[in-house]
Amino acid sequence: MIPFLSLQNTNKPYHDDLIRIFAEKLEKGWFILGQELTEFENRFASYCETNFCLGVANGLDALTIILKAYKYPPQSEIIVPANTYIATILAVINAGLKPVLVEPLLDTYLIDSNQLEQAITKKTKAILLTHLYGKCCEMTAIQAVATKYQLQIFEDAAQAHGATYLGIKAGNLGDAAGFSFYPSKNLGALGDGGAITCNDESLAHEYRQLRNYGSSQKYVFDEIGLNSRLDEIQAAFLSLKLQYLDSENVYRQKIARNYLEQINNPSIVLPPSNSIDKDVWHLFVIRTEKRDKLRTYLAQQGIGTDIHYPVPPHKQKALSEFNHLCFPITEKIHQEVLSIPLNPTLQEVEIEYIIEKINYFNG
Ligand SMILES: *Cc1c(COP(=O)(O)O)cnc(C)c1O
Repeated sequence: MIPFLSLQNTNKPYHDDLIRIFAEKLEKGWFILGQELTEFENRFASYCETNFCLGVANGLDALTIILKAYKYPPQSEIIVPANTYIATILAVINAGLKPVLVEPLLDTYLIDSNQLEQAITKKTKAILLTHLYGKCCEMTAIQAVATKYQLQIFEDAAQAHGATYLGIKAGNLGDAAGFSFYPSKNLGALGDGGAITCNDESLAHEYRQLRNYGSSQKYVFDEIGLNSRLDEIQAAFLSLKLQYLDSENVYRQKIARNYLEQINNPSIVLPPSNSIDKDVWHLFVIRTEKRDKLRTYLAQQGIGTDIHYPVPPHKQKALSEFNHLCFPITEKIHQEVLSIPLNPTLQEVEIEYIIEKINYFNG
């Protein structure tokens, strides 16, 4: 049996170090807003080549805090991809703003930069992009639109730790970026975690305050903030795992290259292969009209898969005010995509087996 993802296996190479770190932190007895957090923030800022990084409780909070800091008038419009994990859209709503959904391109699954202008109104303040599956959006075209209409660009980089666009790291491609360290992400904690990256010092100050109750110094509250902090133990785990992120991403790229070169089933559409070593392959997503049949068949062959995602955000009950909208490309993607195993613990024989079984599928 090849599981879609086993977090036990993912963390196995770091087992002894993780235990040692836990024991040290337990002994030290300082759990929130301390030296480990500062250290991780410095390391992750340096990794993303940004001036600042602020640890927060999770990816959703990172995006929410990014938006709150700007103090846009209530119900200002933020452009978001229709094809994204729901958190991108929830962050906009949580910040008291209005998400405006834009269709993706079918061949990249990323927001279609040609459809941005028609979504812009007088109330539009920013574009919040998702580098979905670990591939950066078409930043050149998006930056041109943002400049023309004086909009901020924010990145949902929750699936893109280490991805680059024209040599620039995800997290440094806009005004601010939100990361998630949910355990299954390319850089994953042993619990929840998140971070914001940015280059502007006053913005970083605002983010630091918002994540800690709006507090500027102990027991002084300048505004209404959140309780959203990355704790010392998770920060220490993340500092350890960050050292291995690049080599794990390179291994992900190698698996992706194998899949792209060797899967040749005519009923299956493969993901874009134009920037294999710039993308970080958080997920390897294939597409077929026979998705459910393929999923059942692979399960029978002992291969675990997942769907990212089965129901689009605008069709969720939680977002009922969007249910009447029609995004045919987004809907088609949600009906046809299937994620096959791609993670740093996958063995060569397993990769070969997966390729063989997918090529043999006769839907
Ligand atoms: C995981 C994820 C998030 C949310 O991160 P959490 O840490 O679970 O809050 C947001 N956006 C995308 C695209 C994600 O994949």
